[in-house]
Amino acid sequence: MNVPFLDLKAQYKQIKDEVKPEIDFVLDNTCFILGPKVKEFEGNFAKYCGVKHCLGVNSGTDALTLALKAIGIKQGDEIIIPANTFVATAESVSHCGAIPVLVDMDKHTYLINPELIEQKITKKTRAIIPVHLYGQMCDMDKIMNIAKQHNLFVIEDSCQSHGAEFKGKKAGSIGHLGCFSFYPGKNLGAYGEGGAITTNSDEYAEAIIKLRDHGAKQKYYHDIIGFNSRLHGIQGAVLNVKLRHLDSWNNARIKNARLYEKHLKGSKIFPAVEHKNGKHIYHLYVVQIPNRDEAAKQLNALGVQTGIHYPIPIHLSGAYSFLNYEKGDFPETEKAADKILSLPMFPELTEEQIKYVCYELKRIVG
Ligand SMILES: *Cc1c(COP(=O)(O)O)cnc(C)c1O
Repeated sequence: MNVPFLDLKAQYKQIKDEVKPEIDFVLDNTCFILGPKVKEFEGNFAKYCGVKHCLGVNSGTDALTLALKAIGIKQGDEIIIPANTFVATAESVSHCGAIPVLVDMDKHTYLINPELIEQKITKKTRAIIPVHLYGQMCDMDKIMNIAKQHNLFVIEDSCQSHGAEFKGKKAGSIGHLGCFSFYPGKNLGAYGEGGAITTNSDEYAEAIIKLRDHGAKQKYYHDIIGFNSRLHGIQGAVLNVKLRHLDSWNNARIKNARLYEKHLKGSKIFPAVEHKNGKHIYHLYVVQIPNRDEAAKQLNALGVQTGIHYPIPIHLSGAYSFLNYEKGDFPETEKAADKILSLPMFPELTEEQIKYVCYELKRIVG
């Protein structure tokens, strides 16, 4: 049997007839950059997330960078981020000339451990970026409390959690700003690069409108030094269509996670723990297994594609060697990096495929 890690073709087949006329609208009206379809999507996604503003940008990385710029992050500022995240979280901090200060993950949820945040706060700390990794939101009660006490900004890296919830609130609606990626493989994915920033603040929204478009709100009146980071019309059109399906796709992912649980029961294979306060939308289904590399190789030979998110923690990667962290500094993140395996996860996955993956994985692990 063949079980891909992700099957974007299956999804495209399902929505082809909805998407094509929307893309045609953009072509017929030559509204390629921002424009009516992006505006429509921004309104719809803001409403979906339960926030006042949504601004489309060119990627999730740009969303994070522009959000940090909007709150005035500059050279020498310190920003707290989890050690267990995709490198883009750290890159956005670096692109502002600021310093990423890492915090180890919680060994159950794989998310930033809120208990370890306060000891990392210094006079230079300006913000915390909780990352809602794998589709599950961080403990936002604890994080917002710490931020309030120390007068820090909170920027939610929601790039893996479109539609995830914490105590009934959507990802991207609790911190000062929320950042989303629409990379094609994300739960809400464009047909190219894309990203967005959500916020309830008129002030930050205004700043981002300028930052994404060369520092100008009105063309050629450049008030600040900005970027070129505007969401494309075609992506707005595609995202509008796909947003209508997001909840049903997320629910299908949740159903698949339950099936994995059922078919892995009684084995030594454990998924990351889902906490009770939220809605985990399973961007990734991550398990810990012994002899991970060998197991992944054998699965691959059996037609099962897997992934590792992520094999090298930020502090041990070449790009961030200048931070002078050492092996052992973030023990939970390091332990996980050697054992985690992301199993196939997408809405169209069948129970037959899940059963096959679990059967072979149990056989390999023994
Ligand atoms: C995908 C991702 C990003 C970056 O998004 P891009 O659109 O690829 O720039 C940032 N943070 C996390 C956690 C991500 O998964």
